[in-house]
Formats: sequence, structure tokens, C-alpha cells
Amino acid sequence: MLEQHQDTAQYEQNGKIHVQTTSPQEDQHDYKEAIKILASKIRGELILPDNPAYEAERKVWNGSFDGYPTAIVRCADAEDVKVTVNFAREQAMTLSVRSGGHSAAGHGTNIGGLVIDLSQMKTITVDPVRHTARLEPGLTWGEVAGKLQPFGLALTAGDVASVGVGGLLLSGGIGWMVRAYGLTIDRLQAVELVTADGKLLRASADENPELFWGLRGGGGNFGIATAFEVNLHPGGTILGGAVFYEATEAERILREYTRLAAAAPDELSTEVLFMLAPPAPFIPPDKQGTPVVVIMVCYTGDISEGERVVAPLRQLATPISDLIAPMPYSAIFALTAVGEIPGFQHHSRSQFFETFSNEMIHALVESAQSILSPETLITLRVLGGAMSRVAPDATAFAHRDKQGMVLVTHFAPLSADAASLDARTQRVFQALLPYANGAYVGFLADEGERIREVYPPATYARLVALKNQYDPTNLFHRNQNIKPTVAPTTLVTSVSS
Ligand SMILES: Cc1cc2nc3c(=O)[nH]c(=O)nc-3n(C[C@H](O)[C@H](O)[C@H](O)COP(=O)(O)OP(=O)(O)OC[C@H]3O[C@@H](n4cnc5c(N)ncnc54)[C@H](O)[C@@H]3O)c2cc1C
Repeated sequence: MLEQHQDTAQYEQNGKIHVQTTSPQEDQHDYKEAIKILASKIRGELILPDNPAYEAERKVWNGSFDGYPTAIVRCADAEDVKVTVNFAREQAMTLSVRSGGHSAAGHGTNIGGLVIDLSQMKTITVDPVRHTARLEPGLTWGEVAGKLQPFGLALTAGDVASVGVGGLLLSGGIGWMVRAYGLTIDRLQAVELVTADGKLLRASADENPELFWGLRGGGGNFGIATAFEVNLHPGGTILGGAVFYEATEAERILREYTRLAAAAPDELSTEVLFMLAPPAPFIPPDKQGTPVVVIMVCYTGDISEGERVVAPLRQLATPISDLIAPMPYSAIFALTAVGEIPGFQHHSRSQFFETFSNEMIHALVESAQSILSPETLITLRVLGGAMSRVAPDATAFAHRDKQGMVLVTHFAPLSADAASLDARTQRVFQALLPYANGAYVGFLADEGERIREVYPPATYARLVALKNQYDPTNLFHRNQNIKPTVAPTTLVTSVSS
């Protein structure tokens, strides 16, 4: 037994974390007859363990979590979601919800319960005149960028193509254009969602406004989003790419980088990677496998102005490789494909920072150099810009004033030593603790009470009130959970404790 949470037990076998979420009811229950009825009611596909697709479907992006759900429902539309939510509630089954499946905590699967898989709901409708779009949750951000590119439009979102619209849009959305156009939730106009009582609601500034506030950063706690209406912004050609430096002068480069990136105009969003150079054709053979600092940039606006703004970041030392060039926005995702390998075990920790002090950068570089291995990827982002000009209480994402964010990740095949990967992740995280303040819900792993670092007390209290109103039995608990504080009255027995 590794750890016991209130509603999730985990145990380790053959180096994998098995997610044991079965409720006492589920241990004793045979769902066969009920599931036959569910199958007859949905338009999508019901995948049971005897289906050849089950083996792939039971897994999620983080291979550390090994789920064996009783059934997976690949919903075709919002009606399927309603039917399946009602079924899970009535049968008192543990429910996982997934869109792109990238939850670091493996929330998209479980043992013995039900999975609502939205990955087939991928319709996107673009209004090129009003610059709006309606997105279904199963789209990935690479797909969204690809569909918007021909219109010269884009939507500020994450920086990895395979991440799902559903999970990221309910978390916040920090990515390539965060300084220019804010968080993804800042472009959100309305959400259609199925609540725990099986109703399809719309939340916007005018309809259920408090729910709309909570959905912008509160994750999957209040219902299942079946569509998002968003405001788009210009996309087209950006100046993007990466410049690679040897890490011998990492501390000086990071100090200069953070100063320049924070002072740059909003059009420029950047992040830095600390890693061993990959065995790629654009890295000289004698530098492959050596520690590097990689500055990644995305400038949206006039390209010649962008060249001028980005120039100082390309001259911090003699680059060993410089891949910065004009490109369609949708092409920039190729840069982060390295972090996308599904099925690997992933160990991660993330923190926000109010500012960058020399001491913080020293602690980052020193701890990073002591653990760097081919499995390590450390990301430091300089935030600010449009994201910071939204009031902290305007959405459930409250860390608007944070200047920086660090994400430490180790990823490797399942055969690698999980304890060692985790210990190396923790080492950098611990070294940065004295300087950190707050966490991003999208980057939380299975970290229990760290949810309190995501939401300041007033935000958390408001989210609990919403949870009490919309999901008092905590049907939606396989997530970064806001626990309700009222005794259930209207819904049937909950599966969670
Ligand atoms: C490789 C990688 C790169 C990332 N890069 C970024 C980045 O650049 N910027 C950033 O902001 N974040 C980033 N993230 C974090 C990411 O936003 C979150 O992990 C997000 O939850 C993933 O969404 P998903 O739909 O792919 O995951 P899922 O596992 O499908 O969903 C995660 C959780 O969200 C909830 N959920 C998902 N869909 C719905 C829905 N339709 N309705 C209600 N609840 C739902 C569920 O609780 C689910 O457990 C990254 C994550 C990974 C693994």
C-alpha cells in the first residue's frame, strides 16, 4: 500500500501504481444487467473488458496509473453524457471523466467504476466573421490550432498538441500566447455542461454566472463540459522556435533571460527548458546528451518587430543551435513533441513564483544540475502580460500576479526505477519551496492537500459553495477534488466517502 486518500486507495505492483477506487457497493455488485440497458440507450460505444479496444482504452497518458474500469463509455454527444451520468449516479459507481486523458494524477481511469470518455466529441464550429468558435471537449489543442490556422485565427492555450480541450479549458490554460492573449479561460464565453443530477446547463456571464466563474479554473468538479464557446484572436504567422545554449553558464543565462522576458512586450511569451540535449540532427553530435538551457519563444505580431524583440534572447551566449524562425502558429507544437510520449511513467511537481530572485535561480540551477538525466525535463515560464491584467477574483484561477512557474518532470518507460525518478523530481521541488507561492491545478499530480495551494481561502470557500450546490454527493470526485461540505439530500448514495 503506497498511500491512502479519502476516496482513492493505491497499491504498487510490478512498479506500477494501481488506482483502487472501488466503493464497497462496487465490490459486491454485478453490473451486467444494468450495463446492457445502458448500452441500448447510448449512441456512442460501450467498451467492456472483452472488447479488443479495452486494453488501450483502460489506460491513460500517465502510464504509472493502471486502471481496470468495469466499462468505458465513448460518448457521441451531450445526450450520451446525460444518460451515462444518470447511470453512474443511480448505480453508485465511481466515475472518471476524460477528454484528452493527460491528467498527471491518472484521474481518467479507475478500477471497477465507469469512465466517460469524451475523446470522440471533436466537432469544432468556427465563425470567421465574429471570431468565435464552439469547441467540443474531445478535441486536442493541436487539432484546434490546425483547424483555426486557415482562418488566420488562433486560441491561446497550452503548448503541447495532444493535451485535451476539456481538461485544460477547465484548469486555466497557460501556453504559447499567454502574455499576449491571457489564459484560455479568459477567452471563454460560455460552457454547456451536464451536472450531477443529469441536467444540461449553460453557464456564461448571463446564465448561471457563479457557476461560470467556478468553471474557469475549478476543473471538473461541477459537471461534465460538453461544449465551450470561445473568442478567438489573430493567429497566422508567428516568430517561434528555440535557441539552445550550453548549460555551463546556466545561472547567468537564466538571470538574463528572466529579466528580458519579463520586460518584453506582451506579444512575446517564452519559456526555458533545462535538460540534456536530445540526439537530434539540429544538435552537434559532441553536444548531444550534455546539459543545455533552451529558450523557447512565440512572438505574435509584426515579424520584423518580433525579430528585434527576440534578438537579445538569441545572444545570451554562443548558441549551439538556433531554430527560431517565422512559422504558422500550428507548427510551433512540433517543438514540444518530445514531452508527449503516452504510456510512459510521469513524475511531476509544479510551483508558482511571485518573482525571480538570484537565490531562487541559484537553487533551481544547483538542484537541477544534481539530478539531470535523460529522463529530466525542467520548464520555467515567465508569465505576466494579459494574464496578469484580469482581476484575481474574476475567475477561479486566482494566481494572476505570479511572474513565474516551474514544472519539474521525469518521464521514462515503465521498467525504469519509479522511486528514483520521483526522488529526483522531489529534490528540485524541495529546493524551490522557500521561494514558491501557489500551484496550478492543471499541473497538480496526485498531491492531496496541495489543492489548497491552488486556491486562496476566499476562492476555495466560493468553490465549496458551488460544489455543495451542484454536486453535494461528490459524484465528480476523480479530479483535483473540491470536497462538498453538506450532507447529500437530493441525489442517490455517493460512491465517495
Ligand atoms: C504533456 C502535458 C503538457 C501540458 N501542457 C500544458 C500547458 O502547456 N498549459 C497548461 O495550461 N496545461 C498543460 N498541461 C496540463 C493540462 O492542462 C491538464 O493536465 C489537463 O487536465 C489535461 O486535459 P485532458 O483533457 O488532456 O486530460 P483528462 O485526463 O482527460 O482530464 C483531466 C481532468 O479534467 C477533468 N475533465 C476533463 N474533461 C472534462 C470535461 N469535458 N468536463 C469536466 N471535466 C473534465 C476530469 O476531472 C479529468 O480527470 C499539460 C499536461 C501534460 C500531461
